[in-house]
Amino acid sequence: MSFLVYNSLSRKKEPFQSLEPGVVRMYNCGPTVYNRPHVGNYRAFLFADTLRRWLEYTGYRVEQVMNITDVGHLTDDGDEGEDKLEKQARREKLDPWEISQRVAQQFFSDLKALGIKPAKVYPKASDHIPQMVEIIEGLLAKGCAYEVSGNVYFDVSKFPEYGKLSGNRVEELEAGARIAVREDKRNPEDFALWKSDPAHIMKWATRFGPHGFPGWHIECSAMSRAHLGDRLDIHTGGEDNIFPHHECEIAQTESFTGQPFATYWMHSKFLQVDGGKMSKSLGNVYTLDDVAAKGFNMRQLRFALIRGHYGSPLNFTWDALKDAASALEGLDDLVRRLRRASKGDGAAADTDAGAALVDEARKTFEDGMNDDLNVSRALPGLFALRAAVLEGKLGAHSAARALEFVARANDVLGCIQLEDELLPADIESLIERRQAARKAKDFKESDRIRDELLGKGIVLEDTPKGVVWRKK
Ligand code: AMP
Ligand code: ZN
Repeated sequence: MSFLVYNSLSRKKEPFQSLEPGVVRMYNCGPTVYNRPHVGNYRAFLFADTLRRWLEYTGYRVEQVMNITDVGHLTDDGDEGEDKLEKQARREKLDPWEISQRVAQQFFSDLKALGIKPAKVYPKASDHIPQMVEIIEGLLAKGCAYEVSGNVYFDVSKFPEYGKLSGNRVEELEAGARIAVREDKRNPEDFALWKSDPAHIMKWATRFGPHGFPGWHIECSAMSRAHLGDRLDIHTGGEDNIFPHHECEIAQTESFTGQPFATYWMHSKFLQVDGGKMSKSLGNVYTLDDVAAKGFNMRQLRFALIRGHYGSPLNFTWDALKDAASALEGLDDLVRRLRRASKGDGAAADTDAGAALVDEARKTFEDGMNDDLNVSRALPGLFALRAAVLEGKLGAHSAARALEFVARANDVLGCIQLEDELLPADIESLIERRQAARKAKDFKESDRIRDELLGKGIVLEDTPKGVVWRKK
């Protein structure tokens, strides 16, 4: 069965096919680094991570790029309002560059805590001004953009397909436009590629003028092109990115290159709180620290955020987290039981029926994931294995195969505890062996044991009272 993905552009599920065999070029809209990303943002980033992991499971090499927006994202997501970074900088009485650096560091450590695989590169908008200017100049040369006293606008009337992603029609946009449309625009729906503002802190001198900064949309057109080329297989974002952000990216890039931009546009639905979007502006956000303070670990949070279908809204509640934690404990327990059964401990005799159960479980998992990354349809495969092992239906050989499959499934899910939990007695005996090796000046062996323990999540600390251990 092929991988079906819901393409926001065609509004239907389509079989996935990459432009180049075996390779997927994927661009994910990343965070605007004015405030530490919240759990809702991480739902969008975990969706991208799960997608990448599933593509890798099916054999693709994935070239993944996620940007960092550090300038030009205005408070209304369009051309009005204040730069989100400069607004925050004023609030904190800091330099916007300090804020973006601090928040980007928090973002990277959050990604690590959530077990999100690193992208090939995390380009920063402010590092790509020349690449943006190149596209803007190209659009001006083609007559798709115009310059008015240091501002450059995209002329939407030159791109008849404008609206093809969001379904918004130009006439409706015009009718709905606010009275306070910038009067230097030819049409109300035109959008800024470059803005002139002497008061802006993060600004660049270009041939458009001495004090300018980019529009938010041109940043992603430039960064994706710089790191992945003119055409992408997949472009992702949260549902709010569809309009205006992605609609405008398509208009710019396709007008500039004369080619289709991304084959598949995929958007994750919001994480909600009390039926509304979790968002910084509404003040109903939770960070990873808030979740940890409630006693949940990041594996549990990860599972809670990926276990549903990305295309359905998800409600964030502590009960939902508790529920996810207990379901995940069931999967951890599955691994422990399979490990024991695979060693013949309490296992039944191997039978064809047992072997068929393992095949069936894998098929359920793969069919679910192939159906537009439907994790909630895939997970019953794993829970069926748990039922089978609890009912003593798996022999040692089937249990070993099942264990192998669960480990592979976990390459996608990234949250099941696979390592054997070491008992304190095992740890003590390893520590004794390490001490003996040190005494015998066999430092190679003593380092090896330390690393072995570290690999199982145990950190050794040499204290005046001797060696103590703790869980990582
Ligand atoms: P931002 O930092 O505002 O640019 O957002 C970064 C990403 O998080 C974008 O792809 C947004 O669509 C996404 N996002 C923002 N709020 C939520 C939410 N409550 N649930 C899911 N995704 C969100
Ligand atoms: Zn973007």
